[in-house]
Amino acid sequence: MRIILTGFRGTGKTTAGEILAGRLGLPFLDTDRIIEERAEKKIPAIFRERGEPGFREMEREVIASLPPDGVVVGTGGGAVLDPVNVERLRRGSLVFLLQAGEETIARRIVGSDRPSLTGKPPAEEVGVLLRERQPAYLRAADFCIDTGKRPSAGVAGEILRIMGEGPTSTLSRQAGMQFLGRLPLPETDRAALESRSGWKGKRLPGLCAIAGYPCSHSKSPALWNSLFARYGLPYLYTSFEWPDIGELIQAVRDLGVRGLSVTIPFKETVIPHLDGVDPDARAIGAVNTVVQCGGVLRGSNTDWLGIRAPLEDRAGARAVVLGAGGAAAAAVYALRSLGMEVTILNRTPEKAGVLAERSGCRAAPLSTFRDLRPEVVVNATPVGMHPDRSSLLAAEDLEEGMTVFDLVYTPPETPLLALARRAGCRVIPGTEMFIHQAREQFFHVTGIRVPEAIVRELV
Ligand code: NAP
Repeated sequence: MRIILTGFRGTGKTTAGEILAGRLGLPFLDTDRIIEERAEKKIPAIFRERGEPGFREMEREVIASLPPDGVVVGTGGGAVLDPVNVERLRRGSLVFLLQAGEETIARRIVGSDRPSLTGKPPAEEVGVLLRERQPAYLRAADFCIDTGKRPSAGVAGEILRIMGEGPTSTLSRQAGMQFLGRLPLPETDRAALESRSGWKGKRLPGLCAIAGYPCSHSKSPALWNSLFARYGLPYLYTSFEWPDIGELIQAVRDLGVRGLSVTIPFKETVIPHLDGVDPDARAIGAVNTVVQCGGVLRGSNTDWLGIRAPLEDRAGARAVVLGAGGAAAAAVYALRSLGMEVTILNRTPEKAGVLAERSGCRAAPLSTFRDLRPEVVVNATPVGMHPDRSSLLAAEDLEEGMTVFDLVYTPPETPLLALARRAGCRVIPGTEMFIHQAREQFFHVTGIRVPEAIVRELV
């Protein structure tokens, strides 16, 4: 096992890392120090001669050459901003993010010889860079530790405790395991979880899950577990099928679950149980991704990105969204972000009106579809989902040149898409949304950018 300490300058990576390495009887490597040794120059001189891009190139090379096992590594503060570094650092490792408040960091780095990256005075620069880098830090780490009030030996001790017991207390873990005993987990997952008493050696350090009711049919566990194996992340992804979102989120806290995919019927109701929600998810009113770091649960939404990606070449088009539920809200947000003029058509017109008002677009009755002459149509209702064989639109509604995106992904060719294909429309199946949203979700939880072709092949 390799242990990586990451985080901003002044969070104590080097001092805590050296103590930790001493206690584990392992060598400690500091990537900034290796860069200086290889260049035979101090970092300010490297910046003067090669600029930040030159330094980052050297940092990439150093990270690529780190030993794969049996070492404690402290990284430079900007290393995990590059997803390629994150992929390399995470392989076969436990990654700890060391954190501290702005004032503590500013106090700790007084007199540092490190070059300014923003041209601002040091105290101001800390705040600016911390805010900018925080999302990347949170994505790249398995565990977060606040070093503000702990001496370095205490930080090393906390890392050892987490490695031995996991991020939560014994009591919490017991409560979480008891709850899991009530869930219909796959038997192989249950066995893996029960043997997860410690984090040392080859044991699983982490758990991710999909939360829904129902969700045991989901394709997400197969996809995520293949990705974990591919990138050398010792995690298990399972399914938490349970009717009460409050109890599910308590278990997520008790067990220190790192990443949670949220599905029907919890995308809206999960929000009050979280500690924070990002601005896109807040605007859509739905969360499909929860990431936990240091006991804090943050919600975001990747559904809209999954709808946006296949439609990027239709920016500015006239669009219709069928439906006014959670998927429709994500669709409207995605289409509006591409500058489309959107009309919402829904079986219950009042719901279409509410969504239209909230998102600054129009609502109209389903019967007006043909008058609207849309260039892009998104079906965000379950109509056409197996075993249903119906379509909300008829053959006469569809014209050559239209783009028809059906968010339903079972079956891949829905009755609506079959009609649209026959009419000469460009068709986009719901699997496209699944592929793009899953890729974004994996990025939120791990900091790794999986090439689209890999997710496509696995799906
Ligand atoms: P939801 O919140 O329950 O909303 C369903 C919407 O569909 C409502 O507006 C509802 O209209 C309408 N509807 C339901 N049955 C209908 C019918 N028989 N005729 C006309 N309208 C009907 O569900 P959701 O979370 O938005 O999900 C909708 C669909 O999106 C799902 O079934 C799923 O297939 C798809 N989806 C796909 C992905 C993916 O990755 N591809 C991800 C998420 C969702 P009322 O307001 O009148 O009830």
